[in-house]
Amino acid sequence: METLWGDWPTLTHPVRLTMLTEGGREGPPLTVEAYVMPEMPEVETIRRDLLPHVVGRRITDADVRWPGTVQGLSPTAFRTRLVGLRIVEIARRGKYFLFHVSGGWTLIVHLGMTGQLLTRPPAERAQAWIRVALGLEGSRGLWFVDPRKFGRIYLVEDPESIVGRLGPEPLEDRFSARHLAELLERRRGVLKPLLLNQSFVAGVGNIYADEALFAARIRPDRRADSLRPAEIVRLHRGIRRALRRGLKDAGSSVDFYRRPDGGEGSHQENFLVFRRTGEACPRCGTPIERIVLGGRSTHFCPGCQA
Ligand SMILES: [Zn+2]
Repeated sequence: METLWGDWPTLTHPVRLTMLTEGGREGPPLTVEAYVMPEMPEVETIRRDLLPHVVGRRITDADVRWPGTVQGLSPTAFRTRLVGLRIVEIARRGKYFLFHVSGGWTLIVHLGMTGQLLTRPPAERAQAWIRVALGLEGSRGLWFVDPRKFGRIYLVEDPESIVGRLGPEPLEDRFSARHLAELLERRRGVLKPLLLNQSFVAGVGNIYADEALFAARIRPDRRADSLRPAEIVRLHRGIRRALRRGLKDAGSSVDFYRRPDGGEGSHQENFLVFRRTGEACPRCGTPIERIVLGGRSTHFCPGCQA
């Protein structure tokens, strides 16, 4: 039987790793959450996939099955406000979807760690993880499935109240190497955690930060304010290159990311360093290492990242 969750990944368990503190000293063992969350290439792939299923359609039902997913509104108020409105457009900001609906409202969705937006109902074993189900006129509907419940949905008049603090979109023209240099000037601390900070740049997470730093040939544990101008140019190019590669492969289906029809992205087959600990660096052959920075698994080549 064709199911969305038939090939569901075995739940990975949190792993204990020795942490390198931000000063580079070895710290106490730390329990690290092993899941990765969808990042810009995954969210953008989902957005594009959803367009033909969703845009222009009227919302006929909004069934909130886990009240904690919808922020600031009761399930009844959410339903009352949303039913009858039409989805006009889907935009994206960082890892957030912005469903602009008629009446001036915006439905904002963040997938959190395990969230999925599906255009067909999930298989039976995942039915219990449906947190919100939207009915859409002339379509099967839209299901928000989220086993770990870290995903969030907001219905707001001013999207800036949710996404206003996000940093620049790294693939937009105005995100230049010069802009990145200005952003880095004011920052201290370690580079990799900074790249994960959504108010620094939007949409980069654990996968693409590691891939970007590898492309830039910069160690993830470098201090942010230590980069030379040529390295900043490489980092700018590396961030864009990593995200574009992920987007071209329709995202990375590690852990929970799936496309709305249940299909997978293929970028996990093309990772250069991410989760390739011990494998030969594709550039210089040195085994890829894993350290923990800012509580996150970090993969890099000690041979060619300096
Ligand atoms: Zn290397």
